Amino acid sequence: MTAPHLPDSGATVAIVGGGQAGAQLASSLRGNGFTGRIVMVGDDTALPYQRPPLSKGYLTGHSGPEAVRLHGPEYYAEKSVQVLTGDPAVRVLPSDRRVLLRSGTELRYDHLVLATGARNRSLPVPGADLPGVVGLRTLAEADVLRERLASAGRLVVVGGGFVGMEVSSSATALGVRVSVIEAHERVMARAVTPVTSAFFAEAHRARGVRLELGEQVARFLGTDAVSGVETASGRRLPADLVLVGIGVEPNTDLAEDAGLDVHDGIVVDALLRTSAPDISAIGDCARFPTPFATAPVRLESVQNAVDQARCVAARLTGTARPYRPVPWFWSRQAGVRLQIAGLTGGHDRTVVRGDPARGEFSVLCFRGDRLLGAESVGQPATHLAVRRALETGDRTVAQELLDGSFTP
Ligand SMILES: Cc1cc2nc3c(=O)[nH]c(=O)nc-3n(C[C@H](O)[C@H](O)[C@H](O)COP(=O)(O)OP(=O)(O)OC[C@H]3O[C@@H](n4cnc5c(N)ncnc54)[C@H](O)[C@@H]3O)c2cc1C
Repeated sequence: MTAPHLPDSGATVAIVGGGQAGAQLASSLRGNGFTGRIVMVGDDTALPYQRPPLSKGYLTGHSGPEAVRLHGPEYYAEKSVQVLTGDPAVRVLPSDRRVLLRSGTELRYDHLVLATGARNRSLPVPGADLPGVVGLRTLAEADVLRERLASAGRLVVVGGGFVGMEVSSSATALGVRVSVIEAHERVMARAVTPVTSAFFAEAHRARGVRLELGEQVARFLGTDAVSGVETASGRRLPADLVLVGIGVEPNTDLAEDAGLDVHDGIVVDALLRTSAPDISAIGDCARFPTPFATAPVRLESVQNAVDQARCVAARLTGTARPYRPVPWFWSRQAGVRLQIAGLTGGHDRTVVRGDPARGEFSVLCFRGDRLLGAESVGQPATHLAVRRALETGDRTVAQELLDGSFTP
């Protein structure tokens, strides 16, 4: 879809990637009064949409395509944002400030923002290309999964991370029998503490999900379509649908080809500038320094995509400030909302407040006496208090949480 009436004055900002970060950047630039040309290039054929519902309400049928779309076509027309869908950028020429699209279209920019997101990691085992072995990153993939879930009796989910566990939960709600194969000994092991893992494992089991922990996939079974999964220990799980959700890799090919610094993500500085002048990178594809971690990080969350877009929009419209919002994240699965504040990796001590058995608790993560963050279930006030404490650096709340005197 191409929006008409572009103003012909001012500079051109080109955005590669029409996802959460790209769409937010376009909105924030206009919100900040930018009157130049904004062109957003997306490889997806759909207008920018939210991904979180794709594993949750969209799968269960609680939300439709209109509800997941970030804005309708009239919004982009009104804001004079040109959106080129289904036409990926294939080359960036930083010295000429040009982007080439697959269709042959050439875009000149004054500033380029790479918001290319991430793609699903594939599983290189025999049978991975059998019909019925699916992934979930795009709206089109969610449509395939949704349609297949309607007739599937048994789903095997490979990967007990956030997406895998959310899909398990949605599929169970639809009456599908679900088994999860997870290589770690606990679910969501890369992202949450053992207490939170155990709580969710129990919640999923109580809803009938079978967890195969410490197991790996050896191969997918079937001839014309997937019929099961064989694990490394030789067990066979029947399946008429398999979701592979084993994490993502950042989309960095364009940046690498353009000679930008890339290291599991497009490397940016505190202002989110890449190693090339006039090119920024935001969202899932960017690796950035943060006061909340000892080394640069790459985050896969809506908060990060949205706040980084706002940060770059502010810089391009005259207010440069380092990126330092407190990271936060949520997930909804097994009928429970998990909220995470801060970056808890590298903690050497945890304190549990509340009671996991009641479904109301927070796991506070400290390094020494420094609060790094918290995982909260059924305690939104604690989540917000931790976010505020991390934002302001105020140690009072951290101390109160530690000694148990904190009252929301
Ligand atoms: C199923 C699912 C559930 C999720 N649930 C949650 C949740 O509950 N909470 C949360 O905080 N986060 C969640 N996330 C993560 C969140 O959606 C991402 O962190 C967020 O979308 C990142 O935004 P982004 O713009 O960086 O990347 P994306 O939204 O992925 O957008 C990047 C876009 O760029 C496109 N692109 C890539 N290369 C090119 C190219 N060369 N030319 C043109 N376009 C290109 C991609 O195809 C994509 O459309 C979820 C993600 C998924 C997949």
